[in-house]
Amino acid sequence: MPELPEVEVTRRALEPHVEGRQVVAVQVREQRLRWPVPAALPALLTGQRIARLDRRGKYLLWHLAGGTLISHLGMSGAWRVYARERAPPPGRHDHVDLVVGDALLRLTDPRRFGALLWHPHVAGDVAQHPLLAHLGVEPFDPRFDAALLHSATRGRTAPIKQVLLAGDIVVGVGNIYASESLFRAGIHPTQPARRLGPARCERLAAAVRAVLDEAIRVGGSTLRDFTSGAGAEGYFTADAGVYDRAGLPCRVCGTPIRRLVQGQRATYYCPRCQRR
Ligand SMILES: [Zn+2]
Repeated sequence: MPELPEVEVTRRALEPHVEGRQVVAVQVREQRLRWPVPAALPALLTGQRIARLDRRGKYLLWHLAGGTLISHLGMSGAWRVYARERAPPPGRHDHVDLVVGDALLRLTDPRRFGALLWHPHVAGDVAQHPLLAHLGVEPFDPRFDAALLHSATRGRTAPIKQVLLAGDIVVGVGNIYASESLFRAGIHPTQPARRLGPARCERLAAAVRAVLDEAIRVGGSTLRDFTSGAGAEGYFTADAGVYDRAGLPCRVCGTPIRRLVQGQRATYYCPRCQRR
C-alpha cells in the first residue's frame, strides 16, 4: 500500500511534468474507483493550467484555475509518466489518462481503492474538504514537535503505535514507519500514549521525521526510472531496523526481534531496546 513517502516521491516525479503546464486532454476509461470519477472530468480540466502540485497526507492536490483535483493511490494505485507520443496502449487497470503538455500521466489501480475527485473553488477552501479537514499535521511541518505530540497524547489511553497510525496527530506514519520510529525512539509499541513524557515525545517526533525523510530519500533515488509505486511495500523492506524481522537479531543489541498484532496490524519491536 503506498504510504506517505511513496506519495511524496510520486509528487516529486510528476511535478516537473505538470507545474505550469496545460491539461490538453483527459480520458476516463473506468469511473468506478473508491468513489466515482466525475463524468465531467474531461470538461472540467481540459484547457486549464496546473499551477501547483501539492501533497497533504497521502492525497495529491492538483491546483488548477477553477479548483483542485484530489487524487489518492488507495491500496494499489500508481501514476506513470510517458512522453505523449510514446505511451503504450492502455492496459485493463489503466483507468485515467491526463495529457498535460507533452506528457501523458496514467493512473493505474488494479484494486480500484484509489480516488480522483474534483473540488471547485466555489465549494470553498480545499483544506476543509471532508477527506482533508481532520488530518493531523504534516511530519515535516515545524508545528509537529515534542510539545504538540505531548499535549495531543494526554487523553489517549491507546497504545502509542495505534495513536500514530490513526493519523489525527501527525499524518504519514503508516504501519512500517510506526514500527521503525518507535524502535529508533526506544519506545515499546504497547506503551499507552498518555504515559509518554516530554523527553520520549522529543525522541519520537525526531524519529518519525528521520524515518520518513530517509524513506523519501531512498524512494527518490529510484526517480530516474520512475514508473511505479504500485504494490510498494515501502522503502524500508531491505534495511529495516525491526519491520518484518521477527526472530532475527536486533541490529543494536542482538536480541531476537518480536512480532505482535495490534489492531490487526503486525508490529515488530526489540524487547530490550524498546521499553514501556
Ligand atoms: Zn535491541
